[in-house]
Amino acid sequence: MSKKQVYIETYGCQMNVADTELVMGILNNNGYDLANDVHEADVVFLNTCSIRDNAEQRIYGRLGNLKTIKDQKPGMVVGILGCMAERLRSDLIDKKKLVDMVVGPDEYRRLPELLDVVYSGGKGIGVKLSRTETYDDIMPYREDGLQAWISVMRGCDKFCTYCVVPFTRGRERSRSLESIVKEVEHLSAKGFREVSLLGQNVNSYIDNGNDFADLLAAVAAVDRGMRVRFTTSHPQDLSDKLLFTIAENENLCNYIHLPVQSGSNRILELMNRTYTVEHYLELIEKARKIIPGVSFSTDIITGFPTETLEDHLMTLDVMEKVKYDGAYMFKYSPREGTKAFRMEDDVPEEVKTKRLQQIIELQQRHSLELNNRLIGTTERLLVEGFSKKSDQFMAGRTDSNKVAIFPVQDGISEGDYVDVKIERVTSATLFGGVVGVFEKYRTAVV
Ligand code: SF4
Repeated sequence: MSKKQVYIETYGCQMNVADTELVMGILNNNGYDLANDVHEADVVFLNTCSIRDNAEQRIYGRLGNLKTIKDQKPGMVVGILGCMAERLRSDLIDKKKLVDMVVGPDEYRRLPELLDVVYSGGKGIGVKLSRTETYDDIMPYREDGLQAWISVMRGCDKFCTYCVVPFTRGRERSRSLESIVKEVEHLSAKGFREVSLLGQNVNSYIDNGNDFADLLAAVAAVDRGMRVRFTTSHPQDLSDKLLFTIAENENLCNYIHLPVQSGSNRILELMNRTYTVEHYLELIEKARKIIPGVSFSTDIITGFPTETLEDHLMTLDVMEKVKYDGAYMFKYSPREGTKAFRMEDDVPEEVKTKRLQQIIELQQRHSLELNNRLIGTTERLLVEGFSKKSDQFMAGRTDSNKVAIFPVQDGISEGDYVDVKIERVTSATLFGGVVGVFEKYRTAVV
């Protein structure tokens, strides 16, 4: 009998992309194959995300399309995975009868069993959150490639007042250092050139006395020719030990994503971010001393309840002081179930829009200013392939995650590390010419 084909659509962040690979790993071990097209699939899963505002509407819209396909193919199983599972369970299964399965992020191990329930005429429901599940023993299913995302911990204990993650993904749990190192060894043997370690708050990683700095050092040592990134760091927990570890290991990127969210201590307190602007700026200063040339990116939320013009100006001021290489910038929107949901969403929409626009413009100015400083310097890139706009050019990313473009050259292909001398820039892209080719992150071949 031929294997059943599974098609998974992933919404939201890289954690969800990593979870999709995990789900495919579990199903693949249990006799299912990956389908590349929804029309070929026997089972279709939507791996959902609740972080953004219109996420649920998108999922309902997509389920409407899938219903049309299912009407032509009645045996097809449709399921919801991920963050929305618990919240949408009764509406999707009992009321609207749009799906056959609803499975939350800590119940993926039961997917084969729940699919059997569906094939026997029942509904596959698993939405409990766990305090222990890390899927430590499961190797995610990955196509061959250059870059891999490895989830090193699950959940979050921070309870920022605007965020649904502690409720949808549960409490913090770390995977064992040993299993993560094993996964990186496997990726290195398969020819991957870059790994990114993922967690909602990687700095609170802990396994048998090993903290995140120990984990990073162990991962960096697996293959010195492989570049290692990580995200996300919470400013409260970023230790000196971690900064020294980044400085000492050449293949750890000199780049830290450090969400500030707001430049006002009053707003940070309302957000339950547990640090002050002063602490944050000291951290940046310390990191710059310990890791010469380190760059930062951030997340900013504008228009949190009670945010005044003065609070907003403080956010612009922090941006001026730090000068981020990049930022994810959003307008606040209330998420049901969070503490902030009970606060009055009192900043008018047009004010939020105007403040966000000012934040975006300032960030673009800073990105251009920082990129301008790179003209004449040499940046090391991992070559990711042809540039999106032309096959006469190739594109790669720098340590600080900037896209850089250079002319195609004999002997350079995807997966090489190259040194590019930067000749011109925009706020989003660097342009230059190759001055060195490296087969591995550190070893020159030409
Ligand atoms: S640190 Fe805060 S914003 Fe980040 S996932 Fe945890 S609760 Fe959400």
